[in-house]
Amino acid sequence: MRILLQFPEGLKQQALKHAKALELEGNEVFISASPTFGACDLALDEMRTIKADKLVHFGHCEFKSAGSDVEYVEYRVDAPLDIIKDTLSKLDGFRTVGLITTIQHIHQLEEIRAFYEKSGKRVLIGKPYGPAKMDGQVLGCDAGSAASVDKDVDAFVYFGGGMFHPVGALLATTKPFFVADPFINKFERIDGQREVYVKKRKGKVLGALGAKRFAIMLSTKSGQFNIGLAKTLKGRIEEVGLDAEIVVANTFDFDSLNNMMEFDAFVNTACPRIAIDDSDRLRKPLLGADELAEVLRMKGELESAKKR
Ligand code: SF4
Repeated sequence: MRILLQFPEGLKQQALKHAKALELEGNEVFISASPTFGACDLALDEMRTIKADKLVHFGHCEFKSAGSDVEYVEYRVDAPLDIIKDTLSKLDGFRTVGLITTIQHIHQLEEIRAFYEKSGKRVLIGKPYGPAKMDGQVLGCDAGSAASVDKDVDAFVYFGGGMFHPVGALLATTKPFFVADPFINKFERIDGQREVYVKKRKGKVLGALGAKRFAIMLSTKSGQFNIGLAKTLKGRIEEVGLDAEIVVANTFDFDSLNNMMEFDAFVNTACPRIAIDDSDRLRKPLLGADELAEVLRMKGELESAKKR
């Protein structure tokens, strides 16, 4: 069998080991060297071009429905739990805690829950809304495991490394929010950052109010390909007498987007985190679909006011 292996950046160092094991079983193995951003980002074009019988995607759990020729191999990491033991004093006064993590540590949630419950806390683990699969699991684009229990908890604790996942959950919730990072042994309260994102969003919306020509970003990544949404947004923009074109890429390169100087604003339909995390990399406002709706609504109000 001809197999293409795909690894996220943190697991690329293990590619050779897996390739050799599959070769020993008699397979012909190729390794994708392209960057991989998530379970939404399958190397299907490479798979078709090299005529592989199967794609094996490591490190993430299944995202939406992939074909039968795609196998996801999840990856679990046993991170040290010492940081959790140090959190109790900072969680004083927060009786009910919402617990979330990534797929890598999902098997550790029960141990963390048991520790907090033994210490007198009530723990809630919510359910994902969309592509995430397991209770308590968050993705950058699915914070349902936090948002679904927001009204019932006093605070959230995210267990895991990095800020990409907790920021998504932070913006989908309203309660005090703590990050317990076992890799740098740090427990930090981050809900003060919500205001920063709100201000940034307002700035983008106001910055796009004068825009006349919009570029709608459509990604060809398997789990980010939202052509229906892109066409709908183009239609909405054109309905109010403005110009819009759909611009297509697999991975968007911000230098290339910055070269498209005829456009006054960009609208993202790919990974929703692009409009949140990458807007500083574009010289023009980079909007999400909801932000575009706000821009069009405000423009409409301004036009009506002018006519009065
Ligand atoms: S957050 Fe973005 S990169 Fe991650 S799984 Fe969702 S769409 Fe893919």
